[in-house]
Amino acid sequence: MKLYSTNNRNLEVDLKEAVLKSLASDKGLYMPSILPKLDDKFIKNLNQFSLQEIAFHICSTLFQDSIAPNDLMSIINKSMTFPAPVVEIAPNISTLELFHGPSLAFKDFGARFMAQLMSYFNRGEKKEITILVATSGDTGGAVASGFFNTPGIEVIILYPSGKVSEIQELQLTTLGNNITTCEIDGTFDDCQSIVKSCFLDPELNKTYNLSSANSINIARLIPQSFYYFEAFKQKVTNKDLVVCVPSGNFGNLTAGLMASKMGLPIKHFIAATNVNKVVPDYLESGKYEPIDSISTISNAMDVGNPSNFTRIKELYPGLDEMKSMISGAWYTDDQVKQTIKEVYDTYDYILDPHGAIGFLACADHLRKHDNEYIFLETAHPCKFLDTVESCVNKQIPLPSAIDSLKGKEMQKQKLPNTFDAFKEWLL
Ligand SMILES: *Cc1c(COP(=O)(O)O)cnc(C)c1O
Repeated sequence: MKLYSTNNRNLEVDLKEAVLKSLASDKGLYMPSILPKLDDKFIKNLNQFSLQEIAFHICSTLFQDSIAPNDLMSIINKSMTFPAPVVEIAPNISTLELFHGPSLAFKDFGARFMAQLMSYFNRGEKKEITILVATSGDTGGAVASGFFNTPGIEVIILYPSGKVSEIQELQLTTLGNNITTCEIDGTFDDCQSIVKSCFLDPELNKTYNLSSANSINIARLIPQSFYYFEAFKQKVTNKDLVVCVPSGNFGNLTAGLMASKMGLPIKHFIAATNVNKVVPDYLESGKYEPIDSISTISNAMDVGNPSNFTRIKELYPGLDEMKSMISGAWYTDDQVKQTIKEVYDTYDYILDPHGAIGFLACADHLRKHDNEYIFLETAHPCKFLDTVESCVNKQIPLPSAIDSLKGKEMQKQKLPNTFDAFKEWLL
């Protein structure tokens, strides 16, 4: 398999380099040079395959001979360990629940697959990889659990003291082993700037084989395309299928568009956001104007300059072409709260604030078009406990994975918010 940089089509690398480097040397994002069409027979007979078998078929076709079949099977079996069920909520509107992994958000799919691929490609190397991640909450949990006990990889997580929820802090600090967590006396931006300084520091780079687990790594996107096939397989309908993706950095939507390019018959996508509506605005006006992000209750989507927009432009260079495949939609916090309440009262289903935006966008589109709709439920509602409980006016039960974290000992290194302090500790 070859991948090119979005800044230069002629700069091609193999899968190993794209996964281990994350970003191209010219700062572009990696995209597959070819997105092969999967055979019709496979798409027609999806219901005969498990999620793992679907993943194997897609990877075999996409990766060509980059990974031997036995190794590929093992990578998939170790990362795809939980289901992605489609649940019908209202007439013609279903959700694809992506929160059944260990950190209760869809990011588990990408983080676990990336961990396995990195470990595979680093096999036989003398130096282990040290991954540095700054987190405001969600990404760190998925990365910590995804890389836990992965051979050849050490993970160091930096999070801002007092700025993550209790559940998130437990997810970050109770694993131990190859996961080390630093509580930084500062903000998320401080954590991020310490990580950036580490990558630029010659002494640290000599001592450690530093890498990052951020969301622009292509190894996080590829596994996210699998569950679009899984959704199509489960939704038996004679109507056309429209899929709505609540979006922040637009990785999830990019993965869906890649699935469509590989032949999955999805008729149309809805890119749904909160008031950080840079992409819906682009689809209206043809102008891409990044903003400073605005805080909302669907905070995993508070992104003012989505990193994967470049990739979407690669797939659909012209505005008309993009509009034929993607519509935009955006909603306010009040609309989100109202929807969580109404959907619970009417259909007895508890949405999280991100899924609520997906539901709303489907319901609005359905009023004008006769399609079947699926939206992605990107996180379990208990991750946004206060907001959701106040909307549905009752306590929501915690999944057992979270309940069992309570009472576990937190292991963390407290550090001041300077690069020098972090460096000294690391060395
Ligand atoms: C990360 C995240 C999103 C945004 O996904 P993108 O791929 O960045 O568009 C949406 N919802 C939740 C709950 C998330 O954690």
